[in-house]
Amino acid sequence: MVLLKNGKIVSENKITESDILIEDGIIQKIEKNIDYSGETIDLKGNYVFPGFIDSHVHFRWGNPEKEDFLSGSEAAIAGGIVYAIDMPNNTPPVTTKEIFYKKMKEGNEKSKINLYFAYGVTENNYLENVEEAIFYKIFMVKSVGDLFISDYSKLREILDQNKIFAIHAEHKNVILENSKKYELNSFKNHCKIRSRESEIEAVKEVLEVLQKIDKESKNKPNVHFCHISVKEALDLIKNAKKTFKNVKVTVEVSPHHLFLNSKMAEDLKGCGKFNPPLREEADNLALLNGIIDGTVDVVATDHAPHLLNEKLNVVEKCPSGIPGIETLVPLIMNLVNEGKISIFDAYRVLSKNPSKIFKINNKIEIGNSANMTVVDMDKEYKISAKDFKSKAKFTPFEGKTVKGKPFATLVNGKIYIL
Ligand SMILES: [Zn+2]
Repeated sequence: MVLLKNGKIVSENKITESDILIEDGIIQKIEKNIDYSGETIDLKGNYVFPGFIDSHVHFRWGNPEKEDFLSGSEAAIAGGIVYAIDMPNNTPPVTTKEIFYKKMKEGNEKSKINLYFAYGVTENNYLENVEEAIFYKIFMVKSVGDLFISDYSKLREILDQNKIFAIHAEHKNVILENSKKYELNSFKNHCKIRSRESEIEAVKEVLEVLQKIDKESKNKPNVHFCHISVKEALDLIKNAKKTFKNVKVTVEVSPHHLFLNSKMAEDLKGCGKFNPPLREEADNLALLNGIIDGTVDVVATDHAPHLLNEKLNVVEKCPSGIPGIETLVPLIMNLVNEGKISIFDAYRVLSKNPSKIFKINNKIEIGNSANMTVVDMDKEYKISAKDFKSKAKFTPFEGKTVKGKPFATLVNGKIYIL
């Protein structure tokens, strides 16, 4: 048994001072001043959240030189992340049940956190039901192998199912047209080729299909838009959330789209190359406002480790993405400390909403497994990639001073003091 003393438990619009008693990984008691003389950990008045969820990570199954389930999960723990959802664009792509279960087995053996796995949708496998898949991921632009819907007319049939889908929304035709106009010879041009219109048009395409399903079908799909980066796309989704009756639409944004923009692209070089790419300052603000007004359901990292020498390469040879799982919580808590969002906004986008959307029980309740993130809101430090547990030791946030840092991560009762 272990007693966590002096915590402040964060829930919907409420902070409760409490102790928590844990036995065999299970929460036994939640009350003030629990009388227990055995092993005790003083939480020193820090905030206790239902375990944070990163619903978009790439732990690089099949590419251990970039990351693996062990290093990825250790990075998660260091970043205060208790649950993560791993994406299917692996080598090989996770588009058959056989590959899915092979990956799942390996992931569950090696990961130190609670890991969930997404199934990759193709034009041929979309009717398959994979019970353990947490959602079905759709790529509207080329990913790996056949993990890509190139015929958008199939979206109607694909999405008309009672499943949870997550969509990478960039329109392949818009990108193709842009790549005729611009040469991929600068980081700025990467942003121009994968233009804001490519996201807006892709979101439109999907919402038009969903509108028909909403009116005509008995099915009630849940559709989650990954890493939305531009204001107009967010506005379209906001409107759809209001008007759809049966189809549930949710939206995720990534920290790099909240804090960085295309003005910084040339300076950041490889560290600023993303898909979707960096947008404008006005988009940073629109996404932030989306968190405040509740349009943005989830902030997730799109943690995408690569080799440093790949990221230092010229733009056309530089892969997209950065490791984000160790900077998510500090960056969001820093926003709280700056007074830009509330502690309850942070609770919603990192804990409550993803738990609801993806049906992950992270509740701090008697009888539940102890899965929590404890945050020291007063701890100030400089982000430094050399301290990362991820194999990818680079970040666009290098040297940034942030206030608010994970103090402890609890995974199924195992306590990691950070
Ligand atoms: Zn991703």
